[in-house]
Formats: sequence, structure tokens, C-alpha cells
Amino acid sequence: MCAATKLPPMKVDDIRPSEAMADQAQAVQADIDWLGSRREAFVKVACPACQRDDPEYLYDKYAMSHQCCRHCGAQYVSPRPGEEMLGDFYRNSENYHYWAIHIFPKSAEARRRLLFRPRAEQTAALFADRALDNGTLIEIGAAHGLYCDEVRKLGLFSRIVAIEPTPDLAAECRRLGLETIEAPFEQADLEAEADVVANFEVIEHLFDPAAFLSWSRSLLKPGGFVFLTCPNVEGFETLLLGRDSDTVDHEHLNLFTPSSLELLAERSGFINIKVETPGELDVEIVQQALKDDRIDEGRLGPVLTRLLTSNDTGVAGGLQNLLADAGLSSHMRLVAQRPEQD
Ligand SMILES: [Zn+2]
Repeated sequence: MCAATKLPPMKVDDIRPSEAMADQAQAVQADIDWLGSRREAFVKVACPACQRDDPEYLYDKYAMSHQCCRHCGAQYVSPRPGEEMLGDFYRNSENYHYWAIHIFPKSAEARRRLLFRPRAEQTAALFADRALDNGTLIEIGAAHGLYCDEVRKLGLFSRIVAIEPTPDLAAECRRLGLETIEAPFEQADLEAEADVVANFEVIEHLFDPAAFLSWSRSLLKPGGFVFLTCPNVEGFETLLLGRDSDTVDHEHLNLFTPSSLELLAERSGFINIKVETPGELDVEIVQQALKDDRIDEGRLGPVLTRLLTSNDTGVAGGLQNLLADAGLSSHMRLVAQRPEQD
């Protein structure tokens, strides 16, 4: 869903050509102003992960007030735009329009190679022991259909369904020959029950992530899996950059930690919940922030500064692997199962 998703494994510039990004700032500002002018109609909410209403105010950024849940540690925007306003926002977003016209066409092949093919291969690895070749995969928010297309090439499922509410994007999915349902989330009329329901960088944008996960669960066969990715607000990059992290923006209303995401999945009726942080970009993003003077060495301390400025590229790679293994990458993946019996 994110117009400029940052994901492994790649260099940031591979997927966001810098010349095409230059004018995008103006489009983003127009989006922020659109939301900012409607703040009075925003709705106060409890924590989207645990439902408790005990927030600590953190800061304002881009017209949004960020809270931290004292109970589960999730960071969330409250008050926030309601569902109808969010629908209007994404339909009219200048940034998404700019992205579709100017950036996506230039980066489509790199994104396919560096983002969607590896993600399809991850899917194969995650469900290798499940013999799903006769199964059904549903992707919610399929965008240009590149993930579904790459999964199809691997022959993992006999039926692949792309749900995509945006007309231009749904047309792209159909152009690739994918079975496409052009409907807003939760209005898709589906006959088949899925073995796997996937969604990538979607839940952080939603008014009510619990309702979305419960709906995702209802699309699954008993024993089926949900597979999703989202930012980890407790990751290296977001911990160090805080408010200055690009992850904290006007679109991300829900910023979960691994444990609060697990809590959300549990509350939505899933079992065998596994949360991992396989991100690969934290070190590169913080190195760039250091070069741009957006973070000072005092905050990093001598050891991290030394690791991040090492000329030995193996050091950065080793550090990133350590972060991923320790649950400290800023990119998170959840796999969880609908119980065999409800
Ligand atoms: Zn909470």
C-alpha cells in the first residue's frame, strides 16, 4: 500500500530513483495539507493492538498526533481520520497519483526483481511443508499485481486471487491475467476459502486493523494462514531516528512492535503466531542519516558510530543480520494460523 515501500533486499536507490523522487515532496505536502485541514473531524481511538485506552502522548508530526500505548507499547495516531475520510484520501492522494505516473514505471522492473520475486520465494519457503499446489492464495491490496505474478511463476498455488480497490491498479492486475476482484476491502465477494491470505504494508494504514485481521481470518479455511508485513516501530532505524524516521508519516496510523502485533493477531482469533524481523535496510538508512547530519554521534555512542562508519562492508552486513535475528529490524513479518476448529 505504501507509495514508497522500503523493503529488502536492495539498495534504497534501486527502488526509489532519486531524480524521480525530487518532485514527490510537493505531492506529499499536498496530501499532508489535505489531512491537516480536516483535523477537527478526526476520531479519537483506543490502542489498535490491545484496545486499552491509556496513551502517553509522544509528539505531533505531519498533522498527526502520535500516542504510545502504556499497556502494549504500540505507537498509534489518535485522533485519526475516520474510514470514510481515509477512503477519500487514498482516492484523491496526489502522492499516489505522482507515484503511479512518474515513479512506478521507472522502478517497476527493479521492484519486481528486488522486492516481489524474493517475497514470492519467501512465500515458497514459508509454506514449503504445506503442499499448497492445489491451494488458493488471496492477496489483499495487490497493487500492480507483481507479487501475485511472481507467485504464479513458482507454481505454488492452483488459484491466485488479487483483491485491489483502486481501478487503475485492478486494471494492471487484469492485464497480467490475474483473477482480480476490484472492490474495497471487506466488500470483496469471494466464493473460495483461502489457504493463505497475504497483505503487505497494509495494516499500518488502516482505521481498524483488528477488523481487517478478523475479516482476513474469515477468508481462510480452518488451518489456513495469514501472512503479512508492516513496519516494526521497535526496530533499529525507528528506535534511533524516532520522530525523524520516514516510517513516522501521515499515512501510518498504526506502528506496532513485535509483541503488540502478536497481541493483535491473538485478539483477532489466530494461533501459532510467529513474528520475525527480516528487514535489510536499517543500517543503510541510519548510515545515510549520519551522513546527512540528521543524527549525531553522541546519540549513537562510540561503538555504534564505529560500526556504522566502518569501511569494511562486511561489518554493515553483519550488523544488519544481527539486528534481523534479534528482532530489531524495522521491517516485520507475521505468519499466523486460523484454528482448525473455532
Ligand atoms: Zn496497546
